[in-house]
Amino acid sequence: MKAITDYSSEDLNALLKDLQIQYQEARVQNLNLNMARGKPAAAQLDLSNKLLNKMENYTLADGTDARNYGILEGIPECRQLFGELLGLNPEQIIIGGNASLNLMFDTLSFLCLFGTGGCKPWLWQKYIGTPVKFLCPVPGYDRHFKICEELGIEMISVPLKEDGPDMDIVMDLVRKDASIKGIWCVPLHSNPQGVCYSDHVVDQLASMETAADDFRIFWDNAYGIHHIYEEVPLKDILKACMDAGHPERAYYFFSTSKISFPGAGISLIASGPENIKELKKHMSAQTIGHDKLNQLRHVRFFKTPENIRIHMEKLAEELRPKFDMVLDKLEQNLSGTGLASWSTPRGGYFVSLDTLPGCAKRTVDLARAAGVTLTEAGATYPYGKDPKDSNIRIAPTYPVIEELEKAMDIFTICVKIAGIEKIMKPD
Ligand code: PLP
Repeated sequence: MKAITDYSSEDLNALLKDLQIQYQEARVQNLNLNMARGKPAAAQLDLSNKLLNKMENYTLADGTDARNYGILEGIPECRQLFGELLGLNPEQIIIGGNASLNLMFDTLSFLCLFGTGGCKPWLWQKYIGTPVKFLCPVPGYDRHFKICEELGIEMISVPLKEDGPDMDIVMDLVRKDASIKGIWCVPLHSNPQGVCYSDHVVDQLASMETAADDFRIFWDNAYGIHHIYEEVPLKDILKACMDAGHPERAYYFFSTSKISFPGAGISLIASGPENIKELKKHMSAQTIGHDKLNQLRHVRFFKTPENIRIHMEKLAEELRPKFDMVLDKLEQNLSGTGLASWSTPRGGYFVSLDTLPGCAKRTVDLARAAGVTLTEAGATYPYGKDPKDSNIRIAPTYPVIEELEKAMDIFTICVKIAGIEKIMKPD
């Protein structure tokens, strides 16, 4: 398509009128299409239905009855399976409950309340007037930002580049400011851009000098095996930290939310030996143990890491046509216009789109009024404030393909209307 900047003002007016007619046609259809949250579609969930089969035997390999209390760190066969899958030492894994976000919230809460490695509790800092800060690569995952907000941790945005956070900025900040205690990282197929961290970035994060002795990396590998177009390797952060002399620097999170059932899967945290000891101590006051029956169900269902990878390939087959559809629609309807740019993820759950500055909110509002729900504009930034008001997260997984096609047609009309309005009437 022709670049919008090459249009005369009459042509631009005519184009806007034409788009408004198309938009009204869509509005009157009273559609109800949702591209807001990264939820698996029913067809993906169906692939795990055998997890729901009746369990005939509840005895673990070591003779423990999985129906009863106990085993705070999770059953050995489950730690073994996911340790092998992710290249983690099972001794350094704790299996949590049904969601990794819960583990992230709890870990950060423990740090606020109790501190780590003999350092002062992070809450203490608030009372002496230098609240703890976290680095947040942006755009990023809104729920990470919510956790910080809830716990009173100040957030500093750092640009996310093609191979990870802008490390010049990160290294400079953490070297100078002891109140910066951590960074959020989604190292593979990041939410929302699909960024995958390079080995160099992993090494820099592991080895960088930090003013805070208790600096921590929150390594949320939520999409660690969720490849759609291409398998992308990821350097082992726990080993990199160990090799760099910081064995306790990273907390590694993972879950089966987008492998088996979101909200009914299993989660894990892995970290250095001292961190694991601390976590177990705090957790032992919180629970006698997580759901071992669900852990056992997952072990019996998947059996081997190889089977989990085969399962992920089947899920990728479900997702590929949806991502193809979204990317094709963006290409057909917006390419060359100069009104938007977007990511081309190799896996994960999202496509990230940037409108012209000042157009994201208007685009999302227009889409909503035409029956297409998107993640709120601004959600991908700390405090819900996108300084350029340009980033929109597209979640293609949940709708069926026919709905997705309609939703993308309407969405791209909205991107164009908002962009042309802005060009015709800049603030
Ligand atoms: N982390 C990231 C980056 C996510 O995108 C999501 C879900 O969208 C989660 C964590 C949620 O994981 P869980 O269901 O294990 O809490």
